Amino acid sequence: MIFHFRNFARLDRWSYRPVVDASLEGEGAWDGIFGRLYRHEKDLREQIAQRDQEIGMLLAAGQALTDGVVLLAQNTQILFCNTMAESQLGLVIRTDRGQPVVNMVRQPEFVAYLEGSDYSRPLTMRSERRDDRVFSVHVIPYAGDRRLMQVKDVTQTDRLDQMRRDFVANVSHELRTPLTVLAGFLETLQEIEVDHDEQQRYLQMMADQSRRMQSIVQDLLTLSSIESAPPPDNEPVDMVSLLDKLRRDAEGLSAGRHTIVVESDGHADLRGSEPELVSAFGNLVANAVRYTPTGGTVTLSWRATPQGAEFAVQDTGIGIDAKHIPRLTERFYRVDRGRSRDVGGTGLGLAIVKHSLNRHQAQLDIKSTPGVGSRFAAKFPANRVAGL
Ligand code: ADP
Repeated sequence: MIFHFRNFARLDRWSYRPVVDASLEGEGAWDGIFGRLYRHEKDLREQIAQRDQEIGMLLAAGQALTDGVVLLAQNTQILFCNTMAESQLGLVIRTDRGQPVVNMVRQPEFVAYLEGSDYSRPLTMRSERRDDRVFSVHVIPYAGDRRLMQVKDVTQTDRLDQMRRDFVANVSHELRTPLTVLAGFLETLQEIEVDHDEQQRYLQMMADQSRRMQSIVQDLLTLSSIESAPPPDNEPVDMVSLLDKLRRDAEGLSAGRHTIVVESDGHADLRGSEPELVSAFGNLVANAVRYTPTGGTVTLSWRATPQGAEFAVQDTGIGIDAKHIPRLTERFYRVDRGRSRDVGGTGLGLAIVKHSLNRHQAQLDIKSTPGVGSRFAAKFPANRVAGL
């Protein structure tokens, strides 16, 4: 009796705190029972430790995802969310676990999507908390009534989509105006007898409109070819002959109405794609001539130092109000639409300039004073300068 009682007391004591670091020892038949109990307890603990480790790995994988992930139980109660979802949706898992997510994110379109049953498409919503962000929320049902919610930040793609839509609308608008004029004159000429002089006037206006359309299409093709081209070459471009060509083009466009000056320190060349640089610099020079009244001066300058190089075009023209300067390189942005049309502008010149310069890691610096003149400078980094 005493023997059994002693062993029973040991088992009783151990069962309160079943430690597995010190072996549970019994006597006689008790030792076998204790041994099995002890092993069972030890196995159980090992299994739990392994499960904990596996759960920890799964949670770490959930945290490592670049998208937000929220696991929902019945009634949209939050079971888990990763830190990305916390920052996207303004959740705090420590306090929000067990709360319905629709109490935390109350945007009507989100609530309607979650409470509906059609999850075949994601919901795109503009965040109310951070209204510069756009999220795509996709709910994926799993394990009966559980739901996994995947939240992607699609701000960038949304912005690009919007830009593409605006661009198509702008191109259509730009081409529609000259087309309407052309069609109008054609109809008039077909329907009404007009005298020779009148006819010549109409034909001249039709030729102007078709030239305008040609310029727009040409600039669009230049933009698209720059966009789809591989990165520009690193070959040296001879700046002496490039400056000479730019000067001749400026003189041709000015037709003697301006003084064209070229200042060059003449030491170095640029590394890059010659056609792209010609197109960028040519646009700056053409703008300077077109937006400078007769009698003005257009100065082309080229300076290179070991720190970098600068090609600049300065004019004594109409200048630009400061509020327009940040938007000048947007496609089809013009300060004065009528004036741009009168001088044969397409509104795409500076967009081409900016794009070509970006591809050469160069910055466009614009300084201007209305009524005094403007200075457009392309600043190139040292690795684009050759021959110093
Ligand atoms: P555009 O074909 O209309 O000239 P750009 O993209 O080349 O289009 O230029 C955008 C606008 O910037 C022009 O419409 C004009 O209002 C302004 N601009 C560009 N260059 C000059 C300049 N040198 N002087 C004054 N305004 C300029």
